[in-house]
Amino acid sequence: MFDPKLYDKKHQERNTSVALTVFAVGRYLDAYLNTFLTSAEKHFMIGLPVTYYVFTDLPEKVPKIELAPQRDLKVVTVQRYSRWQDISMMRMKVISEMIDMEFEGKFNYVFCLDVDQEFKKIGSEALGESVALVHSYFFNLPKEKFTYDKNPKSKAYMETGDYYYHAALFGGSLQNVKALADFCHLSIMEDKLNEVEALWHDESHLNKYFWLNKPSRLLSPEYCWDNNLPDGRNILLARLVWAPKQYDKLRTRK
Ligand code: UDP
Ligand code: MN
Repeated sequence: MFDPKLYDKKHQERNTSVALTVFAVGRYLDAYLNTFLTSAEKHFMIGLPVTYYVFTDLPEKVPKIELAPQRDLKVVTVQRYSRWQDISMMRMKVISEMIDMEFEGKFNYVFCLDVDQEFKKIGSEALGESVALVHSYFFNLPKEKFTYDKNPKSKAYMETGDYYYHAALFGGSLQNVKALADFCHLSIMEDKLNEVEALWHDESHLNKYFWLNKPSRLLSPEYCWDNNLPDGRNILLARLVWAPKQYDKLRTRK
C-alpha cells in the first residue's frame, strides 16, 4: 500500500528523532522487556534515531541490549503501585511529565507502547501528528460491541464513537501526546475523587480523547495483532504482535 523508503527519506532529510516509552513494572520486566527491546532494535523505525525510555521499579534488572548507532536507551525509576490498574493508568502522568522535563527539544515524536508485544516491522510510515491504533478485537465488529465506558459518572463515559482504539500503542508530536496524556491523567484523577473507575482504565479515557480530538493517522490492526484471533486472513503483515498474556502469574494482586 505504500513505499516505506519514501517515508524514511522524508524523515531522514528532516532529521526526525523519536522517543519510545515503555513501562516494565514488577513481573512484566522479566516476562516481556527483553523481547520487546531486542525486536525493536531489529524492527522499529530502523534508520531513524530512536531513544527508548524504560520506566521500571527494577532499574538494575533492565537487560543490557546491544544498540545500533543512533539508538539509545534510558532507564527511569518509577513507583510500583499495588493495583495493576494503577500501574497502567499512572503511565499517563509519567509520560506527560517526561515530555516537559526530558523530551522537549530532543525529539520530534513520541510513541508510547505496552511492553507485552513483539515488533515485526514498524517503520516511519507510522509517524504522524496524532497517531491512534484500531483495536484488533473490534475492527470488524459493529459499534454496539465497542467496550466504551458506559457509566455516566466516569469522565470516560461515551455513548458512541467512531472506532475502538487500543491503548497499547499511541503516539504523535510531543504537543499532541502531551495533550492526550494530560487529558487522560486529569480524567483518571477526577474519577478517583468521584470514586469511579472507567471500564478499561486508561484505554477508556484514551477512547474519549480520540473521540473529541480526532487522530491525524489511524493505524490498522496490523500494528498490534493477536495471532490467536481467528480472522487473520486480511492481515497481510502483522507488524507488531501480542505476546502471550499471563495475567494470573504476572499481574499484581490487591
Ligand atoms: N504494566 C506493568 N506492570 C504491571 C501491569 C502493567 O509494567 O504489573 C504495564 C506494561 O507496560 C503493560 C501495560 O502496563 O504492557 C498495560 O498492562 P497490560 O499489558 O497487562 O494490559 P492489557 O494489554 O491486557 O490491556
Ligand atoms: Mn498489554
